[in-house]
Amino acid sequence: MERDFDVIVVGAGGAGLSAAVTAARQGARVLILDSDKQVGGSSRLATGVLYAAGTSVQRAKGIDDNPDAMFHYCMALNAYNAQPSLLRTLCDRSADAVEWLISLGVEFRPEDLYVAGVDTVARGHRAANNGVEIIQALDQAASLAGATVSLNTRVRKLLTDGDGHVCGIDVDGEQVRSGAVVIATGGFGNNSEMLARYYPEASACESLWYIGTPHARGDGLTLGKSVGADLTGFDQGLLEMSPQMVKELDSYLPGWLIYVNRDGRRFIRETGAYAVMSGVILKQVGKEAFVIFDEAARAAAKVIVTYKPLAPSWTADRLAEFIKEGKIVQGNTIEELAENVGIKASTLATTVENYNADCDAGVDTMFFKDPSHLKPIRKPPFYARRIRPGLISLTATGLRIDRHTHVLNEADRPISGLFAAGETASVLPARYMAGGASLSNNTVFGRIAGEAAARHAMSNS
Ligand SMILES: Cc1cc2nc3c(=O)[nH]c(=O)nc-3n(C[C@H](O)[C@H](O)[C@H](O)COP(=O)(O)OP(=O)(O)OC[C@H]3O[C@@H](n4cnc5c(N)ncnc54)[C@H](O)[C@@H]3O)c2cc1C
Repeated sequence: MERDFDVIVVGAGGAGLSAAVTAARQGARVLILDSDKQVGGSSRLATGVLYAAGTSVQRAKGIDDNPDAMFHYCMALNAYNAQPSLLRTLCDRSADAVEWLISLGVEFRPEDLYVAGVDTVARGHRAANNGVEIIQALDQAASLAGATVSLNTRVRKLLTDGDGHVCGIDVDGEQVRSGAVVIATGGFGNNSEMLARYYPEASACESLWYIGTPHARGDGLTLGKSVGADLTGFDQGLLEMSPQMVKELDSYLPGWLIYVNRDGRRFIRETGAYAVMSGVILKQVGKEAFVIFDEAARAAAKVIVTYKPLAPSWTADRLAEFIKEGKIVQGNTIEELAENVGIKASTLATTVENYNADCDAGVDTMFFKDPSHLKPIRKPPFYARRIRPGLISLTATGLRIDRHTHVLNEADRPISGLFAAGETASVLPARYMAGGASLSNNTVFGRIAGEAAARHAMSNS
């Protein structure tokens, strides 16, 4: 059958562009389409962190690391509820993904490396200029390799031949034929119906806010299902906690806060990674928690700047406004505060007393928070704000793939000619491993998909 391109890539985010560059560099004629007016999707909005082990960036900082250790951590964190073959591939190829992006011009500075999960090794590789830098490098590489990009083009239909092989796409009645198709349309965070069906834990949260691209409608899942693809990874994704006082990305809160549950007890080290925070809050009574602080902390609050401003709403002036607006509840004593919020007063009083004693001694004997964050809660008025999971950063229910990115049907057989990568394909397990896992996933599997699709198309031409 006459074909217009060897490989068609649907979606020009991190996964799709990685696939397009790789396929085009193998000599395939590549068309990449995106429904948005620009390339990048959620990858463009990202902080630009990749989670990887054994890179030159780590070595430059004297960090000895390897994919085995990363794999062991990812599996253990998920109590082995994960797809080992896919995670093994992700870990094994994560360093190569970082080196590849470096070769395309992305800068990862050794001094920006950080511990991104609840492990002990610094594997969070932050691109100096965030996700935008990664997308610009990939976009440039795609055009240098000769890929054709078509924007403002939403793909809603796949073409199959008489034998069930995927052989192109149909856009508003116009058919474009190819030897293989890669689906890389991202997640479905912006589709409330799919959230209710595939990510009920998130969907049940009040005031849900999806922070990624509006184009994350789950089109890839619909496209895959239309040709018999199986879905997996039910109820998985990354849900972040937020005080939701304003519609700003403020899931990193200042370390001087304490978090308590309705019983009035602390339950986690407040500076813990977001990878685990929401999961732990969802286990508390009412699936919620409260941050507690005092007037001394409010008056001293200022924006924390690391690589970018964190907790932007936690400044003295803005907190004063929220208190005036009633978004933050106050009390003249800890017991009064507890009554006003509905927390068990006697236990909260004990919690604060013990915490203050720890602050005086300079050691958090309960949760081992860094001593630099220990500020006693003594100066009235006292304040509380409810926090709960409510920000969706990504979804992980997706097309079932094998480690070569073939999309599988319900009998676990590859659907000929169809490949998938990134959020569209289900790779990430229930417990998000660490900041950077998704961009590692989309780069690693995007490249594999590009290579596999090009090979498939060219061997069947
Ligand atoms: C604010 C923010 C910060 C983040 N920071 C990080 C981070 O630092 N590290 C990390 O690992 N993860 C991070 N994440 C998560 C990560 O960015 C995403 O999970 C990842 O970028 C998804 O990549 P992708 O290639 O699968 O999808 P995307 O990058 O979203 O690309 C999908 C593309 O497909 C297009 N598309 C959708 N439907 C169609 C269709 N029918 N036809 C044609 N095109 C279509 C979309 O327009 C989009 O361009 C962050 C997310 C957000 C929102």
